[in-house]
Amino acid sequence: MFRLGGWLYSEGRFRNGGVTIDDGVIVDVERTPGRALDARGLILPAFTNAHTHAGDAVVRQELAGNVEELVAPPHGLKHRVLARASDAAVVAASRDYLERMARGGTQAFWDFREMGLRGIRQLCEAALGLPLRPKIFGRPSSMRYNRDEVRAILRACDGIGISSRLDWEPRAAAKLAKDAHDARKVFATHASERIREDIDDVLELKPDLLVHLTEATESDLSRVADEGIPVVVCPRSNAFFGKILDLPRLARSGVPFFLGTDNAMVNGPSMFREMDFAWKLARLKGGVAPRVILDAALAGRKGLTASPDVALAPGDPADVIVLDVAGEPTFGGVFRSGEADLGFVGLGGRAWLRKDRRLVELAPPKAGTARRRTPRQHRRARSARS
Ligand SMILES: [Zn+2]
Repeated sequence: MFRLGGWLYSEGRFRNGGVTIDDGVIVDVERTPGRALDARGLILPAFTNAHTHAGDAVVRQELAGNVEELVAPPHGLKHRVLARASDAAVVAASRDYLERMARGGTQAFWDFREMGLRGIRQLCEAALGLPLRPKIFGRPSSMRYNRDEVRAILRACDGIGISSRLDWEPRAAAKLAKDAHDARKVFATHASERIREDIDDVLELKPDLLVHLTEATESDLSRVADEGIPVVVCPRSNAFFGKILDLPRLARSGVPFFLGTDNAMVNGPSMFREMDFAWKLARLKGGVAPRVILDAALAGRKGLTASPDVALAPGDPADVIVLDVAGEPTFGGVFRSGEADLGFVGLGGRAWLRKDRRLVELAPPKAGTARRRTPRQHRRARSARS
């Protein structure tokens, strides 16, 4: 059992409080921080990195060139490297990336996985045993539609995630979307990243998730908002490829949105860096309320619904972080922070505590001694003691 205390982030503000964790579950959320704490600071739900290409971690060379030369299928640098790399090399590079992601306080990632079934298998192997919740959106191994291949991909992962509708022959794109929906899985696509795409053509595919929309106009965004389709934005990646995301415009449109770090060869998986950059970039375009940025990093906790409810509650998985903040927390303080300021990370029933400047994993309970209590059982036990 761990007791964490100090401040909690809830409904857009910071307040005093603490949480008790038992066997990977939040069993109590208190209004006062309590004593005998295992970690003290600002308690936040762990992040969701809503858009990654983890396999790109295998690309090690210096990057030069534009978005087409680097990432566009089928001849962009990353695709050439991925096609040449051994399974072992991709798995090792992806695993290293995912381990850094977990140590940085991220609990879930949503990955667009290239290379068909082979790519999905590589990512599953890389994530095996790590305390992360992956959502994997696969895609065919070539730019040709093959029904058997798509069905096999949909059996193996959470849905389809394509580079862009423009990269596909329109009928093939429609088939990919339909197959995903028939299988009751997600259809996701990058959209309006390099150039503005016809939003009606994109929406006709009934996407469950869109990525970027950097070049979308105000009216495009309002169409997306009307459809209630969530969007992932990746401001650092956009900037690398020469685009400045208008985050205030996106926020004004009412589109629910998440933050993602995108290509592993361009950005590390740090949600702190993404938030900090997003915050500063948004100021160039008139600014947004800071909670908009933090909520976008946390909102994926309940999946693609982009729930604005990011509060911690008894019964929730104890995927939480504690940030070492000096004095009362502020949003600016969170954005200025980094992985080195994490005093505690709890993910997937495991826990790490900062000792001598390093996060050290705490020994899991011995087999046979751990007994999962429900929050109600835990409260009963507490009141029986007092
Ligand atoms: Zn992407």
